[in-house]
Amino acid sequence: MIVDKLDRPLRDLRISVTDRCNFRCPYCMPEEIYGERYSFLDRDSVLTFEEIARVARILVSLGVTKIRLTGGEPLVRNQVDRLVSMLSEIDGLNDLAMTSNGYLLAQMAQKLKDAGLQRITVSLDSLDEDIFKQMNGRGFGTQRVIEGIAAAHEAGLAPIKINSVVQRGVNEHVVVDLARFAKERGYIVRFIEYMDVGNLNGWQPTQVVSADEIVALIDAEMPLKAVDGNYDGEVASRYAYADGEGEIGVIASVTKPFCGGCTRLRLSPEGAIVTCLFSGAGPDLRGPMRSGATDGELETIVRSTWGGRTDRYSELRSQTADAPRKKVEMYHIGG
Ligand code: SAM
Ligand code: SF4
Ligand code: SF4
Repeated sequence: MIVDKLDRPLRDLRISVTDRCNFRCPYCMPEEIYGERYSFLDRDSVLTFEEIARVARILVSLGVTKIRLTGGEPLVRNQVDRLVSMLSEIDGLNDLAMTSNGYLLAQMAQKLKDAGLQRITVSLDSLDEDIFKQMNGRGFGTQRVIEGIAAAHEAGLAPIKINSVVQRGVNEHVVVDLARFAKERGYIVRFIEYMDVGNLNGWQPTQVVSADEIVALIDAEMPLKAVDGNYDGEVASRYAYADGEGEIGVIASVTKPFCGGCTRLRLSPEGAIVTCLFSGAGPDLRGPMRSGATDGELETIVRSTWGGRTDRYSELRSQTADAPRKKVEMYHIGG
């Protein structure tokens, strides 16, 4: 086990398998910037599955027990189930999950399960067609995503979680509908406070709907009670329905930051390791890997990166708000 300067152990790895996405959610990849002429990473720049699996094995040997595949959209990476299968064979890994927008999930769910994926989180910001079309930036309706979620449920990728980013004036008035939809089907929705990730979404504090407000909106219709987290370092605060059927989570990254329990490392599509979601960059592993570094040499880079870590951006947000700085983009690093 390795710990950082604030005594946080390394436990979770989020692997962004591509910077490409079939959606253009304005809070993540605004269409006006990521239009047809935007140049994403070329094929050779992106880590191969073998390179990703090698990094993952080294990180598991250093204490990682959970891996989440993300992106961009992980399902646009060709044969991503092959990567799932390679990762699922790593000894010491207890949890292998994915976050996806669900658009390509209906045809992939069973393949992913067969390859060894354990759980999936599907992002679905609203059930309202017009709001969803606006929030995915592509005018796509909800049907394919809902079918994808059902296919994942059917395939046993349980428990299904749904991520919903809540933005004031956009979808806060429909959170109860989404909560009810999930409750009826046994899915767990996690409402996420809109964050100032990246540099391009024009985030304003006034657009954030606080977790407390979200809980109050749902509680007024379907009573809730707070329950303990499942494990240390869980980012969502849990609330169970008082009738005993189901639960929701809220991720209060803006109003109640949880940097003290941040045990996550992120691997970018081109092989950089990034500690904080709000970092500008991180050390590169691809260069050393492609010029013949041994596992021991890669391990040294990881140890010194994690060992030197002091970042806790969300806790310092209010103090740093006046000092704009370049941050990694959410679609690049995957959350
Ligand atoms: N494309 C996949 C998806 O959307 O599920 C995986 C990558 S996406 C970057 C991971 C998660 O980050 C999604 O649930 C998305 O809603 C969330 N996200 C993106 N931008 C965000 C923001 N500005 N604030 C809060 N959450 C955000
Ligand atoms: Fe794509 Fe996910 Fe970002 Fe939306 S949130 S643009 S689906 S990467
Ligand atoms: Fe972790 Fe950075 Fe998020 Fe804090 S702001 S919880 S340190 S990723």
